[in-house]
Amino acid sequence: MYKRQVINWINNNRSKIENAVDTLITPQLRSKRDDFISWVTNTENENGLIGKAQNVIDNDEIPVTDISEKLAEGGILPMFGMPTTVKNLYHGINRNIEPLSIDRSQSMAIYEFAPGAQKTKDKAIHQVIGFTSDIINKNGAATNISKPPFSLNRWFVRCRACGFFETYSEEKKDELESQNQFDSCPFCGERATDKYQSPVKLKSPRAYRTDLSSGSDSKDDSELLLSRPPIFAEKVNDPENPDLNQLIYNADLTISDKDVTWRVNTNSDRYFTGKLYKTKNTFPFNPVGFWFNDQWLLNDLAVNSNENGYSILVQPVPTAVDEQIALASNKKTEIFRIAPSNVPLELDLNMFSKEADLPHIKAQSNGVRSAYYSAAFLLQRILADRLDVDPTEIEIADIAMKLLDDGTDRRIAEIILTDELPNGSGFVRYLYNNFQDILMETMNPSDANNYLGKIHSSSHLEKCKDACYDCLKVYRNMNYHSLLDWRLGLSMMRIFSDASYVCGADGNFTPYIELRDWLVFATALRDSFAKSFGLTCLESINGLPIIKFGKNQRNIIMIVHPFWDLRNIREANWLAEIKVEIDEYTTNRNGKVSIIDTFNLHRRPGWCYEKLVNR
Ligand SMILES: [Zn+2]
Ligand SMILES: [Zn+2]
Repeated sequence: MYKRQVINWINNNRSKIENAVDTLITPQLRSKRDDFISWVTNTENENGLIGKAQNVIDNDEIPVTDISEKLAEGGILPMFGMPTTVKNLYHGINRNIEPLSIDRSQSMAIYEFAPGAQKTKDKAIHQVIGFTSDIINKNGAATNISKPPFSLNRWFVRCRACGFFETYSEEKKDELESQNQFDSCPFCGERATDKYQSPVKLKSPRAYRTDLSSGSDSKDDSELLLSRPPIFAEKVNDPENPDLNQLIYNADLTISDKDVTWRVNTNSDRYFTGKLYKTKNTFPFNPVGFWFNDQWLLNDLAVNSNENGYSILVQPVPTAVDEQIALASNKKTEIFRIAPSNVPLELDLNMFSKEADLPHIKAQSNGVRSAYYSAAFLLQRILADRLDVDPTEIEIADIAMKLLDDGTDRRIAEIILTDELPNGSGFVRYLYNNFQDILMETMNPSDANNYLGKIHSSSHLEKCKDACYDCLKVYRNMNYHSLLDWRLGLSMMRIFSDASYVCGADGNFTPYIELRDWLVFATALRDSFAKSFGLTCLESINGLPIIKFGKNQRNIIMIVHPFWDLRNIREANWLAEIKVEIDEYTTNRNGKVSIIDTFNLHRRPGWCYEKLVNR
């Protein structure tokens, strides 16, 4: 709208622009002085500031409506001075008719300020009831600025069966819906409603509000520490700016600077139901009160009240209809993806098992999931150590499914790391550029006393059965503690470095630190499992621990590594020979084979006995 005025100002104020550049430029960049000036003053073609800004404004893939936000997220102008990433919760008006508020970063606000949440300030508890545009004092009266309560309105689809996540504009969603594209997961075809979520409205609130009363008394000050909702990475296709790809050993790497990451609060998949209202609030010092328009309130919390001189009157906007929404915070940043390029036929690295899969396959996928997440946390920590930054500067997004491109159609997964800073901080790009070196250092640490050296030490090997505070656990990843396992994480890293690594399926355990004690570990788990459930016939085949049980000992339980694929053994090796022997034995006696992996056996033997033992 102001394009012409902006261009005029630039053309008439060249000396001011030169002054600004001279003031801001650092000595290292001085040689680029004239480039910066001409970038700003070039109003002719699309290589200048105006051209680039127009491109960003026209780009539908940057899903915000505010131009200032759009320019910031498109990487044209910095966030500085634009309060786009900080959101207010308005909880009152003071005697001077100034709004009272608490603020949070946008990504925390969607969680901490969600309707129903309670915040404590100055010993009073304030309950969030919905959303508003920013509240201001205008000519002595409190009012909200005339903007809708949301700065983003999109739809999103998500699938737990494969990790699919995508957002759509209103028009695109209508178009795809009319073609029945959303009847099942667009990526994997899943239909089960507990796994596949068809389109739901996704909104970013401009600001949050309470009923603006004085709040209720606080009994104690303990606030629940909430963990952050998961991050989803959304691929953005831009033929003009393709992703960069490279293959390092057996690791397929991608870096992208245009994808968008999302945090979504789905209210534990119950969403938030409400609509637009207007409210009138009165205060002890202002009994006449103020009206606030276009307030989106949770229906359950849109109630009239009047206490101690504070009152709220709510009126639905006549045209408003009920909506079910999820809350979103999004940013454009750099995204690094890594997946194995080749997977030997001996291994199954799918963490997205299907409902119809055999119980032991579903069980093994838990160990595979552990391996991907453990490798992700390992990479995050190694990178943070190297760059001497806080690990929170590098975020781990929800791991997504990928299909192997080798004709077998096998499912694998992709680890996604992103820069926490909007528009990127260069950290994951450093990982992309230095991956070979980092991978080598991970497998063979050069210094016995650094982070990786300590993980490889024999004392750590002895004392750490899964994960500890010396390797993968930190306070912040508490939600993942039961899943983490440094041996599985390192096995995944070894797969990235060596396409021929079969994780012990060839009987070769000793050369690898993460497998060296696996047979001993598996045998010890087998022994205590057998003892707990009164099984006494313990044997081994070529060193692999098994249990025989039942009438004439006709059934066999074999203990396996979570990565091993036992569906149809396609390669002749140590594991295949053992499997043939077991199959022969049980077939001759009319017995059954049970398969229990060490990941589950270590963590939940009772569950293994109940779910995995075929009797
Ligand atoms: Zn799916
Ligand atoms: Zn450890």
